[in-house]
Amino acid sequence: MLAQLPQVDPELARLLVAEEQRQFHNIRLIASENYASAAVQEAVGSCLSNKYSEGYAGKRYYQGQQYIDAVEQLAVQRLKSLFGAEHANVQPYSGSPANLAVYAAFLQPGDPVVGLGLPHGGHLTHGWKVSVTGKWFDAHAYSVRREDERLDIDEMIRLVREVRPKLLIAGITAYPRVVDWLPFREVADEVGAIFMADIAHISGLVAAGLHPSPVPLADVVTSTTHKTLRGPRGGMILCKAEHAAALDRAVFPGLQGGPHNNTTAGIAVAAHEASTPAFYAYARRVVDNAQALADALLSAGYRLVTGGTDNHMLIMDLTQQGMGGKPAAVALEKAGIVVNYNTIPFDPRKPFDPSGVRIGTAAIASRGIGPEHMGTLAGWMSQALKAADDDAALARIAAEVQAFASSYPAPGLTGVDAA
Ligand SMILES: *Cc1c(COP(=O)(O)O)cnc(C)c1O
Repeated sequence: MLAQLPQVDPELARLLVAEEQRQFHNIRLIASENYASAAVQEAVGSCLSNKYSEGYAGKRYYQGQQYIDAVEQLAVQRLKSLFGAEHANVQPYSGSPANLAVYAAFLQPGDPVVGLGLPHGGHLTHGWKVSVTGKWFDAHAYSVRREDERLDIDEMIRLVREVRPKLLIAGITAYPRVVDWLPFREVADEVGAIFMADIAHISGLVAAGLHPSPVPLADVVTSTTHKTLRGPRGGMILCKAEHAAALDRAVFPGLQGGPHNNTTAGIAVAAHEASTPAFYAYARRVVDNAQALADALLSAGYRLVTGGTDNHMLIMDLTQQGMGGKPAAVALEKAGIVVNYNTIPFDPRKPFDPSGVRIGTAAIASRGIGPEHMGTLAGWMSQALKAADDDAALARIAAEVQAFASSYPAPGLTGVDAA
């Protein structure tokens, strides 16, 4: 429970508790979200955020680093051993700054880069035009195939041979299938490109061995620490030893000032948690949930992009239901089920009103909700989508959903009663 905040700042405390209640009572299916553990939250909420420590362990610009150096080294060592990496940098403030550091380390403005297009499941920072990575660099996008909505590796190879990028990016934000890293490594070698794999979404699955790891193949691997990896809000860079100095310099002093030491500590805790059998069981449940939910939604008549999933994510296409993704997401939220609207490949609708919703199963897995409940969940989703204009019906579904959700503990929440 909150000890000080309600007295010191009741207005903020009310908002915080209300958000905790929302996270507790709803079924959260946003693919990039999770519940960080209470131990991670304690590290993040600690006195470590009081300390400035520009530089790296042993080479800081301020005194008083004896404990901070040890904290950062712990995070670095644990990530290196968890992912089998030669070098780790835990200072990027989040996933996007981690990616920018890779550009800063290896590219000059205007240099060519190749990444997966945003509408096909790539991230903004993979060279999409509204991002500085698309404005300041000569960015080219590959896509997924029309026929099966899988990554078009042949197109990627053709594009790389034509463009000869300095940086080739593989990685996904909205793509429900395994990424095969090898063809990226091979064609990067052909043209002398740096190969970066961005595992922001899937790093928890990679850590658990449930998605192939790019670490042995890629020059650089970037990730967030808060999606399936279930740590604090943060970023990380793993790389070969030969690139360590360039990437460290790009993060500090290239892009950032002082690292967020409280976040670094949270990453250390999360890396420790991710090495346990309990984390493997969680990651297994994430994938089992996604497959069970996919099966149940397909049986209920919904179309899924690529026809299913290999990871924690589903992209549901609502075209056949004659419904946009945004009204679908709004109806689901009224029924206590929280997703985000999302484009589908070759989406005929506009990005702010696309044809699909993206669904992720990491957060429910963290609460211990397993595949045996996915039929029920698909049933609620289906009812809600059919009753999208009927607020009373949506409220009735929400009551059932919220009674179910509230019977599962929510890791890391402090302001709610578990009952
Ligand atoms: C989420 C995501 C990021 C960005 O992470 P932020 O922490 O939101 O900056 C980068 N790359 C991919 C593939 C992502 O999914």
